[in-house]
Amino acid sequence: MKKASAKKAAAPKVTSAKKTATTKATPAKKATAASEATKAAATAKTAKAAKTAPAKTAKSAKSTGTAKPAGTAKSPSGPKPAKPLKPTKISQPESRVSLVRRARRINRELADVYPYAHPELDFENPFQLLVATVLSAQTTDLRVNQTTPRLFAAYPTPEDLAAANPEEVEELIRPTGFFRAKTKSIMGLAKALRDEHGGEVPGRLADLVKLPGVGRKTANVVLGNAFGVPGITVDTHFGRLVRRWKWTDSEDPEKIEALVCDIFPKSDWTMLSHRIIFHGRRICHARKPACGACPIAPLCPSYGEGETDPDKAEKLLKYEKGGLPGQRLKPPPDYPGRPAPPLDAG
Ligand code: SF4
Repeated sequence: MKKASAKKAAAPKVTSAKKTATTKATPAKKATAASEATKAAATAKTAKAAKTAPAKTAKSAKSTGTAKPAGTAKSPSGPKPAKPLKPTKISQPESRVSLVRRARRINRELADVYPYAHPELDFENPFQLLVATVLSAQTTDLRVNQTTPRLFAAYPTPEDLAAANPEEVEELIRPTGFFRAKTKSIMGLAKALRDEHGGEVPGRLADLVKLPGVGRKTANVVLGNAFGVPGITVDTHFGRLVRRWKWTDSEDPEKIEALVCDIFPKSDWTMLSHRIIFHGRRICHARKPACGACPIAPLCPSYGEGETDPDKAEKLLKYEKGGLPGQRLKPPPDYPGRPAPPLDAG
């Protein structure tokens, strides 16, 4: 399922990037795009993705009559917009129709900005994704991705992990933090998989949440990305962004999940989750959102909560949007950024 969805995502990305390069690029950018077409240099791709996706979104915002985001409306010669952008006003109380329309529009914009959105944990099968997701608590996906190759090389199956020496597992997963509790969780779930599910990861929410250390969020990640079962993943980024967009003011992940499930068709759930999490990690950060470089700014009622100066905001961008390596050591083929370095690379 993972490979199939990665391929699906690849097609719009190429189209959109090419379209942007031919319609919006400066001569210098065009030269970069032409060079990419023949050389496909990873670093050039990163720079192009960081520049072109917001530009395309700014164009679509213009065509729909919304204001230009401060950070994406820079002309090639560099003048800044005369009128500062203001946060989108939402009539109170907002009608259900208006909320649904607004939320779906944000999703469409995010799809333009992140056509390559994907789960940021490296995995090759449902068991690996399940273990990696449990290990990702209280740490970054990058650190998990740098840790799991050695773990899965030593214990490739639930049976192997269930029979492992806990101290050896603790040593292997130490870089992810809370390694004693996490060892108990992943060995406990490996034993449950071995003893109750014939060594296979079950493909049902009700069975997954009964496994040790597996909550609803982990279960939805596994279902959505290893089984193709649509699911909303409400993590810290997802919750923060939907509150900033005033889809809800709830802090309760289950209430947020129910509300978002009600706004979007099932077929959107998994990719919507990836897009929102991508946006939270790259642009709409918890402490310093990069509002001045945010393609969603014209639709955002919280614009101005973060840095609005386009140049300063651009410096806050992370991963491929900031020209930096991503979180996955083995990203999908359509990812425009660079792979993350292995653990021993520093
Ligand atoms: S970065 Fe700013 S403008 Fe963009 S979504 Fe977040 S709060 Fe809104």
